[in-house]
Amino acid sequence: RKLGIALVGLGYYSKNLLAPALQQTQNCRLAGIVTGTPSKVEEWKQKYNIPQANVYDYKTFDRIADNKDIDVVYVVLPNSMHEEFVVRAAQAGKHVICEKPMAITPKACQNMIDACKKANKQLAIGYRLHYEPFTKEVMRLGQEKVFGPVKFVESSDGFRSGDPNQWRLKKSMAGGGPLMDVGIYAIQGARYVTGEEPISVTAQFAPKTDPQKFKDVEEAMFWQFQFPSGAMSNSTTSYAAGVERLYASCEKGWFELAPAFGYGPLKGRTSKGPIEQPVVNHQAAHMDGVCKDLLDGKNLPDHITGEEGLRDVKLLEAIYQAAETGRKIQLKS
Ligand code: NAD
Repeated sequence: RKLGIALVGLGYYSKNLLAPALQQTQNCRLAGIVTGTPSKVEEWKQKYNIPQANVYDYKTFDRIADNKDIDVVYVVLPNSMHEEFVVRAAQAGKHVICEKPMAITPKACQNMIDACKKANKQLAIGYRLHYEPFTKEVMRLGQEKVFGPVKFVESSDGFRSGDPNQWRLKKSMAGGGPLMDVGIYAIQGARYVTGEEPISVTAQFAPKTDPQKFKDVEEAMFWQFQFPSGAMSNSTTSYAAGVERLYASCEKGWFELAPAFGYGPLKGRTSKGPIEQPVVNHQAAHMDGVCKDLLDGKNLPDHITGEEGLRDVKLLEAIYQAAETGRKIQLKS
């Protein structure tokens, strides 16, 4: 059996990545859509053979509770809207996948976790890289200390953002700038190659080269984590320039992915030679992986749950606090 997924929000990621990936999945299928833009409905219905009964808008969304075709609701809206739609999906009795960052405050994340627990439904975050073979290999190289203990990590993710009117540049909708959007990949990278939780953070905002465009959010920033083993990481995120690299210097060698966080193919090498792994569709692997566990009645692995999303959102908040105060922030695990 394939689980039926309803996508909420039919923007860039749903249209160009998730819906095409759902044509390749084994454990799930695109069964429904939820959109605030009526003009999109006809095209989606025809292209993906979606019956009218499985089409909702933001007002009718709660009626999805009565729809047996839909097992999982996948929330792909601007960051500030994740909380409301995850809570409503859980209340409608559906499992939920929510895009990253999970929400814009730790409190919102906690509300989402609580709502899913109360409804006895599972919550996954859109951490697609946890199902991606090159990423899984660098997790292994770091966590199993294949090149000795990891001493230093450089993890950075940034791109040149376009449209000055997009929600990503509005603090109320995005929660912040590139840190909220792609910086979270750099945080994850440092965490998954060390296999540790950071104990302190320092951070700095880069000067703004376009203060008009970036009047509400940072244009670029830098931060440093310290880990319990003594490992350090240094990271950059930016909406002004492209950067995409995860590098780990270990006691007896090094390994890196570059590109490290995009849709692939990712590319990796180590001090002993290239990393060879199969190239997969990230979105199909992620949704199939999540849905396999749901079909088998298993708990989702810790590293893609709401608790993991909350952990990262707390770190996002601490990084901003460190940059705003200029102080080193001690982190509670
Ligand atoms: P987008 O702007 O292309 O799409 C957002 C959708 O939300 C649009 O369909 C828009 O109509 C709808 N929307 C509803 N209310 C809105 C409002 N008030 N303002 C703006 N849009 C509104 O964004 P996207 O790139 O698809 O990102 C959506 C989510 O997916 C974000 O949380 C983002 O971080 C995440 N994302 C994740 C990945 C990944 O690789 N995991 C990649 C891209 C985006």
